[in-house]
Amino acid sequence: MEQLLGAHTSTNGGVSAAVDLAEKLGFTAIQIFTKNNNRWYSKDLSEKEVELFKSKLRGSHIKFVVAHDSYLINLCAKEPEMLNKSRDSFLDELKRCELLGIPHLNFHPGAHMGQGEEEGIKLIAESLNIAHTKTPGFKVTSMLEATAGQGSAIGYKFEHLRKIIDLVDDKKRMTVCIDTAHIFAAGYDIKNTVTYKKVISEFDTIIGLERLKCIHMNDSKKDLGSKVDRHEHIGKGFIGIEGFTNIMNDQKIKHIPKILETPKGKEQLEDIVNLNILKGLIK
Ligand code: ZN
Ligand code: MN
Ligand code: MN
Repeated sequence: MEQLLGAHTSTNGGVSAAVDLAEKLGFTAIQIFTKNNNRWYSKDLSEKEVELFKSKLRGSHIKFVVAHDSYLINLCAKEPEMLNKSRDSFLDELKRCELLGIPHLNFHPGAHMGQGEEEGIKLIAESLNIAHTKTPGFKVTSMLEATAGQGSAIGYKFEHLRKIIDLVDDKKRMTVCIDTAHIFAAGYDIKNTVTYKKVISEFDTIIGLERLKCIHMNDSKKDLGSKVDRHEHIGKGFIGIEGFTNIMNDQKIKHIPKILETPKGKEQLEDIVNLNILKGLIK
């Protein structure tokens, strides 16, 4: 089987327009926002748009879709008003995914804003339990993204993600996404071939590779352990060609969809360049 590869794709013109653009660019996996990612509220998806998205997807070469939630959401926000707003918004995001038939909602666990990591982890799990209880029978999973650990962000250690999953009641609704730039900045050396293998086996021991459903393929503008989240084109950053060669040839994660979140213009032609580099690394 060929590896599923693609990029975060613009929904300018509606969610179904993303399918058209991705198909034109030759993607087999995509990530989208189902609403404006910098706003709290968006109007509901129309029945027509939902059907158009689904039918276009069926007729395309795209075999995997993931949604990324809004950047405003913080499931462990300190202020009660912000926490409630985040929880409402997350619930809306889950509903949008379910309506569109999107199997995973990727999100950053949260930023504890000085409350401490333990408290943050508890609040995130509580937020997820509330969301899951309000959406019984939903197929969409809550996909925890590993973070760089910038500011007070939780999720820069695999142990953080494990603790959240442990506190979530409905564990079959929990999946995980590795972002290469994030984990590298967090201190996981995936550039070196020997330490790369250790990182993946550590992930498997702590979280379990069966929960890994997506990988964000980004090079990093910042060095190992910097805890700064800055994406770079493949091969142009500190992870470099060596790191991505490790990933593209790892049989254990060959079946995991890989999605670029690298800098791009409106037409996303940069994505084609980056994907061709990745494909060229497969031995
Ligand atoms: Zn993200
Ligand atoms: Mn990411
Ligand atoms: Mn990032």
